[in-house]
Amino acid sequence: MIYKRSSELFADAQKVIPGGVNSPVRAFKAVGGEPIFVEKAEGAYLYDEDGNKLIDYINSWGPLILGHAHKPVIDAVIEKARKGTSFGTPTEIETKIAELAVKMVPNIDKIRMVNSGTEACMSAVRLARGFTGKEKIIKFAGCYHGHSDSFLIQAGSGAVTFGTPNSPGVTQGTAKDTLLAKFNDLENVKDLVEANKDEIACIILEPVAGNMGCIPPAEGFLEGLRKICDETGILLVFDEVMTGFRLAPGGVQERTGVNADIVCFGKVIGGGLPVGAFAARNEIMDYLAPVGPVYQAGTLSGNPLAMAAGLAMLTELDSKREIFESIEKKTEYLHKGMDKVLTQNNVDFTINRFGSMISVHFGKEPVTDFDSAAKSANLGVFNKFFHGMLENGIYIAPSAFETWFLSDALSYEDLDRTIEVVDKVTKEF
Ligand code: PMP
Repeated sequence: MIYKRSSELFADAQKVIPGGVNSPVRAFKAVGGEPIFVEKAEGAYLYDEDGNKLIDYINSWGPLILGHAHKPVIDAVIEKARKGTSFGTPTEIETKIAELAVKMVPNIDKIRMVNSGTEACMSAVRLARGFTGKEKIIKFAGCYHGHSDSFLIQAGSGAVTFGTPNSPGVTQGTAKDTLLAKFNDLENVKDLVEANKDEIACIILEPVAGNMGCIPPAEGFLEGLRKICDETGILLVFDEVMTGFRLAPGGVQERTGVNADIVCFGKVIGGGLPVGAFAARNEIMDYLAPVGPVYQAGTLSGNPLAMAAGLAMLTELDSKREIFESIEKKTEYLHKGMDKVLTQNNVDFTINRFGSMISVHFGKEPVTDFDSAAKSANLGVFNKFFHGMLENGIYIAPSAFETWFLSDALSYEDLDRTIEVVDKVTKEF
């Protein structure tokens, strides 16, 4: 494939944008080479600035569960834009999307809209701290909750000790309030809770992790966390930015029957526009300003265009619930197909899948937490795989630590083509 124009655009971008990108993982730094610049997208396909057509397994990192430029979403945005783009006053559509979200998601009474997943998680933690009067939080190594300071804490310093920042700019003062636990390790969480008695506001996690590849919760893990929280008054926060409105209409809470105290959303809820949200039962949500004392705000929160896209997306998902089964079947088909060809080609691999999230790790051992994901992240092999896929028209995430997000716009021909390319690329390993 030719990437001449993308390369020129990247050179221009780097002069005026740090690294040429507005979000780091887009830069292909982990896999080498240069990013492709996309001109347009439709359904399951991206079309780049050089005219290459790619089957897309990123879908804007998750939001586009029905594929690109989905007509009801686009029509809703265009119609709304004609009436003005932002008013800074309440609008009816904010209530409409809130009503629908509250109907679709179990165990929430009220929802507040923000502009990104980062804001949602950051605000959820502030609310948990305000509600409980406690300051510490537990997060899991390998889970990503956006780039706010409390979450940029690296793994490795041991579970019971204080976290340390992994980004310059995060102060030690902030880092000491974030305790790190191992995903899928209940004993580890119990130890942390015991060692920090009456100091912990919340446990936040991706209930199906998607930021170290896809890692489903082990049997009993979420139930165990719920029990710990019930016994201690700690709030359980599900970061469903990736999984909300994707793994089921009501997300992981619906799939597993485990209730969280606060749920964070992003991605699908905005239909591809910048939206995040957090939600809980009345008792907790009424702690927020202007009713309660915990402050949280946003000039563009509940923006009409973003709400129009989100409402159109949720309306589609709510009224055509068969979509969830359809997309899951497609993911299972891809899983089986890749499993077959990778086995035939004698590749060491582990495929993890939950609903329409799937990832391929190039190692034999089960991938259940950050350590095992890191061990299986055979970066040399992954990078070869990534570039082989791209060269053959398949766009997957440019990092070994990301999940693939399927869209229901993918046809079985697209999936067959993908499996064929996986076969071709890994034959050459
Ligand atoms: N939480 C999770 C689980 C995410 O995957 C992400 C982003 N990938 C975020 C939070 C942050 O969302 P945003 O990038 O919209 O700020």
